[in-house]
This record gives sequence, structure tokens and C-alpha cells, in this order.
Amino acid sequence: MKITFYGGAGGVTGSKHLVEMAGKRILLDCGFFQGHRREARELNMKLPFDPVSVDAVVLSHAHLDHCGMLPMMVKGGFKGNVYATAGTRDVAEWIMKDAAHVQTQDAEHLRRQRSQGASLAEPLYTFDDIEQTLTRFVEVPYARNTGEWFDVQVGANGRSPVQLKFYDAGHILGSAVTVLEGRMESNRTECLVYTGDLGRRGAPLIPDPEYVHESADVLLSESTYGDRVHADFARAKERLKTVILDTLSRQGKLIVPAFALGRTQELLYLLHRLTDEKEIPRIPVFVDSPLADRITEVYKNHTDDFDNETWAEFGARGDEPLVFRNLTLVKTVEESKRLNDMLGSFLVIAGSGMCEHGRIQHHLARAISDPRNTVLITGFQAVDTLGRRLVEGERRVRIYDGFYDVRARIEKLNELSAHADRDELLDYAEHVRGLKNIFLVHGEHAQAMGLKTLLEEKHKEWKVQIPERDQMFMV
Ligand SMILES: [Zn+2]
Repeated sequence: MKITFYGGAGGVTGSKHLVEMAGKRILLDCGFFQGHRREARELNMKLPFDPVSVDAVVLSHAHLDHCGMLPMMVKGGFKGNVYATAGTRDVAEWIMKDAAHVQTQDAEHLRRQRSQGASLAEPLYTFDDIEQTLTRFVEVPYARNTGEWFDVQVGANGRSPVQLKFYDAGHILGSAVTVLEGRMESNRTECLVYTGDLGRRGAPLIPDPEYVHESADVLLSESTYGDRVHADFARAKERLKTVILDTLSRQGKLIVPAFALGRTQELLYLLHRLTDEKEIPRIPVFVDSPLADRITEVYKNHTDDFDNETWAEFGARGDEPLVFRNLTLVKTVEESKRLNDMLGSFLVIAGSGMCEHGRIQHHLARAISDPRNTVLITGFQAVDTLGRRLVEGERRVRIYDGFYDVRARIEKLNELSAHADRDELLDYAEHVRGLKNIFLVHGEHAQAMGLKTLLEEKHKEWKVQIPERDQMFMV
């Protein structure tokens, strides 16, 4: 088989791996590059291959850096199907629509800035392109429900030389580990496993990652935290409780920048539990992000995909994990701004997660100079973002066009990572039988190198490689 790594290689965004097996060309994920605005835009302007030549796409999960370029495939003439779980399909719809909305806003901003050369300022795709893309989705259930292979892009004879199975990746709702098996004319088979983004054991809401049952020659493993060992998940709940109680003792407000997909739902779950267990008082909680609301709705429509512990706790008493009495979903911008004048303590979760845009900015502008308040950072903050500047302890920051002294407390809750750590990635690879070749994708260089060293130390029989972007391998 031949694999070309077009993105999510030598970095964490833009995942696109083109696998050629048994005469088919199958694209694993079709993600957006993110990061520095201009560089990312240049990389996202054009797909690095002809979409017409691709037979099918398999989508591991609905984060933007995995699904964000799908409309560009369809716009570029791709004729095949997109295989995904139902949860992934339903979340991807909102993620793509949000991306189109952000692109339109960016384009308008660029147009205003430059009087000439406005041709550069075009959104990459429109809602129409997304509607077209959604018609290509084919739902594939997790193998645990059926145990069966799924034919990829069935030919005229009603069969396909390539088959697919999904196992739960435990990363976010709908996330899947992909197994691809190709049958060649000689009747020999070849098999590849792609972890997508792999979740952690013991995380709330979503089940733990499932091991695959097949033997495979090749593993494409993510390596986001390939050089790190995470603290236990139970600590997240304790830390959250401590931060909330501290803030309440100062009669302050809690401002929580959070990502709409995954992190927000985990926080709601933890807040619900802490409140029910009377570990924290029933303070008003606001989710101030239309995208987070929509995705939380999707989560509620796919409760079958929740883990057993969540069901044991909530389902048995007819309670819903993501709904509680003191939770309000803020709809309009006016409602959002009204929170600025609200007296007393409350907690607001708003996007964007790295504080670069969205409603979090006006909450920060209002709250950041008051020492009673807390800003709780719950996820990775990229270089050059407002979130990163806060984490690094800058004492004066720019929000919109003004400068603000940082007097609020800045706290971090690193324990909520949705990615497996070094030991969990090793453990996962060790459960793939017959493995010979491992490609480490979706990791910064240091993280991927750390994991490569560990894997090679433990398993001399494995050939571990770290592909660069646009690099091709025959295996
Ligand atoms: Zn992800």
C-alpha cells in the first residue's frame, strides 16, 4: 500500500492521509490547517491533490482540523462518499457551518482593510457547498454494535475490494479508530489502523478507547502528547471545585474560555456532578456560545454513545448529564452583554477557547481587571493568542482595541486533555496484533520524537517513522 501524508504530519493540524490500497484511493480525514492566520489560509486555499481522483473519504471525528476541508473536496469535484459515525456526521455539520461563518467574517474584515486586491478575501466555501457535502455522508456504526465490515465505495458488482470498521476512539462524541482492509487480486489482504485522535481512559461522558481486534501491518498513530504523562482525570474535578470555591470566597465571577466541541460538554458534566454532590453551591452557570449550544444538543441526541459510568450515575435516575437547574444557555448577543451587569458570583463558559474571537472577549474585558474574579483556562493555548498571554502571566493585555490590566486570577485546568498520553499511546499500539510499521502523525516534533524513542525501545520489531508533510511511503 502507498500512504501520502498531506497534513497532520510534522504538526497537529490539517490531518489528511491518502491511502492507496487494493486499487482504491481513500482519504483519511480532510482537516483544516489552523494557527498563524496567513500561513493557515495559504495552506487551506487549495487541496494538495485532485479531489476527483479520490474514491472515498473516511472521517475519524468532527474537530475542524479533521473535517474542515471536506466542502473543498466536494467543491473540487470529488464524487465519492464520506464514511463517518452518526455522531461525527451530526457534529461535523455545525463545525463546517461555523467555519464558513468565520471565513465570511474574515473575508469582510480583509475587504475592509484593503481597498485593492479584494479577490484574496473570499470565503473558502459557502453553506451551499456544505449542504452538498452533507449529502455524501454514509453512516457507519461502531463495530461493537454489528461486528461487521462495511464496504467502502461499492463497485458495479455490488462489492468493494476495501472494507472498513470503526472502533470507539473515546476522544469526543462519534470519534472513531479506523480499520481499513484491502483485498488484492492475489487474494492477499493488507490492513491499516488509524487512531484518529485517541482519547484518555477514565474521561467523563465518552467511553474509553476500544482496542481493535484485527491484525494490521500498519498503524497511523496520533502523537499529540507522545512525550508526556497526564495527571489522573479525578484531579480535574477536585481542581475545578477548589477554583470555584476560592472564587466564591472572594465574591468573584468565573470566566471560562472553552472549546465548543468536547471541552464544554465535559465541563458541564463536571459542574452537574459537583453541584449534585453538594461539593459546590448551586451558582448560576451560563454557556454563552451558540455553537456550543448546538453541539451540546447533538450530544443529547446521541446519549447511546455515552459511557457506562455516566449511565450508571445519571440514566438510572432519569437525569440528563448535560442539563441542570442552574444552567442557562445564552442565545443572543444582547443576553450575553446583559451578563456584564449581573451582580453576584456566576460562571460563564464562552468561546473561543484561546480567547482570540467570540463572546469570551467582552467577558474578559469586563472581568479581567477585578482581583475578585478568576479566568479558568481549560485547554491548550497556541503561541500568539490572548489565552497564551494570560497563561504566561502577562500583566497587561490587549482586548479589542483597548488595554487592560490583568488583576483577576488566572488558573489552569490541564487535566481535561482529550488526548491519550505517552503510556496510553504505547498501550494502544501494543494491542494491535502483527504490527510492523508505525507512522506517528498529529504531533509537534518533540512529542512525536519522544514517542518514537519509547516505541523503538520497547519493540525492536517495529519500524517507527515520523512523516513530514507531503511525504509518501510504500509499505
Ligand atoms: Zn480532535
